Amino acid sequence: MTDESQEDQSKHMLGLETILVRGGQTRSAHKETSEALFLTSGFVYDSAEEAEARFKGEAPGYLYGRYANPTNTMLQERLRALDGAQACRLTASGMAAVTAALIAPLRCGDHVIAGKALFSSCRWVIETFMPRYGIEVTLVDSTDLAAWKVAIQPNTKMLFLESPSNPTLEISDIEAIAAIAHSAGARLIVDNIFASPILQRPFEHGADVVVYSTTKHMDGAGRTLGGAILGLSSFIEEHIDPYLRHTGPAMSPFVAWNVLKGLETLSMRVERASDSAAKLSDLIANHKAVRAVRYPFRPDHPHYELAKRQMKSGGTLVAFELVGGKKAAFAFLDALKIVDISNNLGDSKSLATHPATTTHYSFAPDVQLDLGVTPGLIRLSVGIEACDDLCRDIAVALDAALTVE
Ligand SMILES: *Cc1c(COP(=O)(O)O)cnc(C)c1O
Repeated sequence: MTDESQEDQSKHMLGLETILVRGGQTRSAHKETSEALFLTSGFVYDSAEEAEARFKGEAPGYLYGRYANPTNTMLQERLRALDGAQACRLTASGMAAVTAALIAPLRCGDHVIAGKALFSSCRWVIETFMPRYGIEVTLVDSTDLAAWKVAIQPNTKMLFLESPSNPTLEISDIEAIAAIAHSAGARLIVDNIFASPILQRPFEHGADVVVYSTTKHMDGAGRTLGGAILGLSSFIEEHIDPYLRHTGPAMSPFVAWNVLKGLETLSMRVERASDSAAKLSDLIANHKAVRAVRYPFRPDHPHYELAKRQMKSGGTLVAFELVGGKKAAFAFLDALKIVDISNNLGDSKSLATHPATTTHYSFAPDVQLDLGVTPGLIRLSVGIEACDDLCRDIAVALDAALTVE
């Protein structure tokens, strides 16, 4: 598929499933079927004159692996088409993408507002790291639109949110928060990692920048770490490109190649895991060991209507609180036979974690409670195993959680 046919693709609005398999592919002279892995850090020139012309931008071609690589270009183009963005850049991890998107456009004296229910590293970057460089920060309850409005200041440049949030699966109103950002002349960054581009399309709701950890559903097999930043070409070229080129958090072409192959099955995996997660959330909700379950497409979710409007399905994650607190949570985890104990997510393998002692361990107890990270909270990332097997495994482990009370 040539670059021109890539243009044609967007004109004809190809389905997501087609973009996932074919988007962005360019073939070498060998006409390989599968995307080629160009595992090279550098590129050579036929003449000194050509090298000069390429560096001046007067001749096309690659310069150096920190700037661009043909395998990475295929992935960038596939992700760009998938989300309907103008431009995409890759990074070595999801956190490198979040950090670049937040910091590269800002200056000392600028102000950022972020939803406080965040992945713990996102929260550290925003709450601890950015203020060291004179960037002001306000954290708000992301589900409270009035709180976002009140937090706006004349120097507000960026709003940041995660929806669904980690680990309590809160849903934020992307459209309304984008409108608040825009009326203040600020940009909204959406961390779309939990939903993936299959279940939620933040640009269609007004987001300016979308960030991903390709580590999660996109790789899908738990192999590689990576990240992506999507947005307008003007934003990417002015703010993100100089930052990435000179600070160097480049994605390895080997990782990009893995993610290209992972994307081919993304919709099948996410849809199936999401179907299983919906079934499991009902099973969990009806068990005596459970105080409450959070799943965006269950009518008892506090933002059910919004989730229905904003997402295609409820997603692959379920959060629930056990009546018996930490002891019950540990008994549940230790009784699992199929589901693994792991703080990763978005894998083909189902994974369960106890956020209070792992992902959110570093937060003070009052901050944990403020975020809904209670001692009895379990976060379950549902994989693509046979749903019956998962149901049995979870049911037996919930029974075990009852015995500690
Ligand atoms: C995993 C994750 C990240 C960070 O991604 P890495 O690839 O681990 O660096 C950021 N935000 C959310 C919501 C995540 O789940």
